[in-house]
Amino acid sequence: MRTFDKSSKLDNVCYDIRGPVMDEADRMIAAGEHIVKLNIGNPAPFGFRAPDAVIDTMSNNLTSTEGYSDSKGLFSAREAIVEYCKSKNIPNVTVDDVYTGNGASELITMSMQGLLNNGDEVLVPAPDYPLWTASVTLAGGTAVHYICDEQSEWNPDIEDIKSKITDKTKGIVVINPNNPTGALYPREILEQIVELAREHELILFADEIYDRLVMDGNEHIALASLAPDLLTVSFNGLSKSHLIAGYRCGWMCLAGDKSKAKGYVEGIKLLSSMRLCSNVPAQSLIPAALANLEDTKKLLVPGGRVYEQRNFVVDAIADIPGLSVVKPKAAFYCFPKIDIKKFNITDDEQFALDFLKEKHILFTHGKGFHWDEPDHFRIVYLPCVDDLKIAMDAMKDFMATYKQA
Ligand code: PLP
Repeated sequence: MRTFDKSSKLDNVCYDIRGPVMDEADRMIAAGEHIVKLNIGNPAPFGFRAPDAVIDTMSNNLTSTEGYSDSKGLFSAREAIVEYCKSKNIPNVTVDDVYTGNGASELITMSMQGLLNNGDEVLVPAPDYPLWTASVTLAGGTAVHYICDEQSEWNPDIEDIKSKITDKTKGIVVINPNNPTGALYPREILEQIVELAREHELILFADEIYDRLVMDGNEHIALASLAPDLLTVSFNGLSKSHLIAGYRCGWMCLAGDKSKAKGYVEGIKLLSSMRLCSNVPAQSLIPAALANLEDTKKLLVPGGRVYEQRNFVVDAIADIPGLSVVKPKAAFYCFPKIDIKKFNITDDEQFALDFLKEKHILFTHGKGFHWDEPDHFRIVYLPCVDDLKIAMDAMKDFMATYKQA
């Protein structure tokens, strides 16, 4: 009998964010059990609502956005994105250099499919947002992980990056602000990365989807703004800052010097037209959304939900013997460290599974983010403080007696 296996192209694609822990969570939910989800960066289920003006814009445009748009996106949306790039000093972006996508996710995959040949290498952070590693691999490339250093506020380790550049390296991915660590990189680190890209003629891939979710008076510096003489592909979108992850609204901009990348740009155009266009109603709200950055800011200051929830979680972790965490400066994630000797932990996925089964609370283990040691996990602090309190009390209780067999 003929059977159908998955494509061998997927054999090495590692997207551990699913796996036994998620399977168990699905089983528990199907059995009617309530679980607290600290595992996914999806604001809406936690009571976050997009600004009315943004939603109204899309509703009002529904009848005029029934057709396909230009494959790069509506002109009005791309114009607003160009203005946004200008506000962030991202150089040399015209409407022709902007591609809207069904979330940044679609464009991350497209950017790798359009560039890589088998065996090409791309430098990707560890820990990473795992779509990057998966996209490099699916495109036939090799993701070479560079270390982000917890001792140095999770900043990229420049010496480690240097040591991993080879003649096969085509680009370097910088996720800033970072998922899963919540780090925000300072100018000097970004400048050193740009310098390496300059020296080795690499493309910069700047995933900046959390750039509007920065706390404590810090400023996000767009990587492209430091590299007008290089090609930077910048990724952004409204899933997080405007709390509309479900609308699938993202974009990618080619910035800086494109003169040496004519072939690559052709490849991206081809892939962009093959998917016809991204969700047009969602594109139509981009100008209104980018004109309204105030509602996001309210979440990030004292009294704002994201700010208060971050502080709560960081304090709660500090109160649990055997856990520690670098206080995140941005986004809504943190990546606590576990004293693995104390708990005899050798398998972080088992740890997440044990906690889920006993306490009905779901988080993602560090290996899901290509972190090699079993000593970290990610908390998404989107639930309200009351729910976070339940979760963190449960964690304290669990950690008081946990020993991995
Ligand atoms: N990049 C990073 C760093 C993310 O954390 C996410 C989502 O969690 C994405 C990209 C994808 O966002 P979207 O496809 O919703 O635009």
